[in-house]
Amino acid sequence: MTRKFLIAGNWKMNKTAPEAVDLINEINTSVGDQTGVQVCVCPPFTSLSKASELVEQSEVLLGAQNMNASQSGAYTGEISAEMLRDLYVSFVILGHSERREYYGETNETVNKKILSAIGNNLKPIYCIGETLEQREAGQTLEVVRSQVREGLENFPTNSIENLVLAYEPVWAIGTGKTATDEMAQEVHFEIRKVLSEMFGDSAASTIRILYGGSMKPENAAGLLSQPDVDGGLIGGASLTSRAFTGIIEAAISAA
Ligand code: PEP
Repeated sequence: MTRKFLIAGNWKMNKTAPEAVDLINEINTSVGDQTGVQVCVCPPFTSLSKASELVEQSEVLLGAQNMNASQSGAYTGEISAEMLRDLYVSFVILGHSERREYYGETNETVNKKILSAIGNNLKPIYCIGETLEQREAGQTLEVVRSQVREGLENFPTNSIENLVLAYEPVWAIGTGKTATDEMAQEVHFEIRKVLSEMFGDSAASTIRILYGGSMKPENAAGLLSQPDVDGGLIGGASLTSRAFTGIIEAAISAA
């Protein structure tokens, strides 16, 4: 089973709409018509509408950084899956460690969002990963195993090709510290093992597992050469077209 690399940029709370226009135009130009690697940008909600117009004729796909699990209703300040679909959003990042840490998201609440996303034809990028404390206590594999099991409870096997996971060790996010290639592979392998137990070997072999945590042009090639690393979820390095393009180029070479 060949899994196409996905390089997704998580812009977090960065870039005004005019700044987003400039960056997307630059990324569109550098991606051009190559289709060997999938590229996705996830700007803040305020830029999605404009971004949607800009990527319409390009190979770049659009993602959001969060959504509410409910279809609609009295949830002040929230955004629904239907609203994202209406803007031709393809992917949605769910369960990012910053949302778990600052907004109290749990495997259980993220599970509701994942089921809502998939039910509305959005592809979830489900983020999991251990804290430094958990790694030092030797709990990494146990933590990610329960994140996979609980976060993906009742996930419909017939939509499995639309599921993406991102292994993001919390201690590596925005810190400049990266998991070694071997550390990443060990956890990705374990994640795929749990996915096999839940959905079967054949389904598990189609699911892309991205690495996230201070990925940059200099370390991307090594991480992407690992057999169970199927792309990257990029924070800081997705904010300049130079760095983001460097990672895309590493993925094209590794594909
Ligand atoms: C992220 O927040 O998803 C991330 C991977 O950030 P960074 O690349 O900045 O570590």
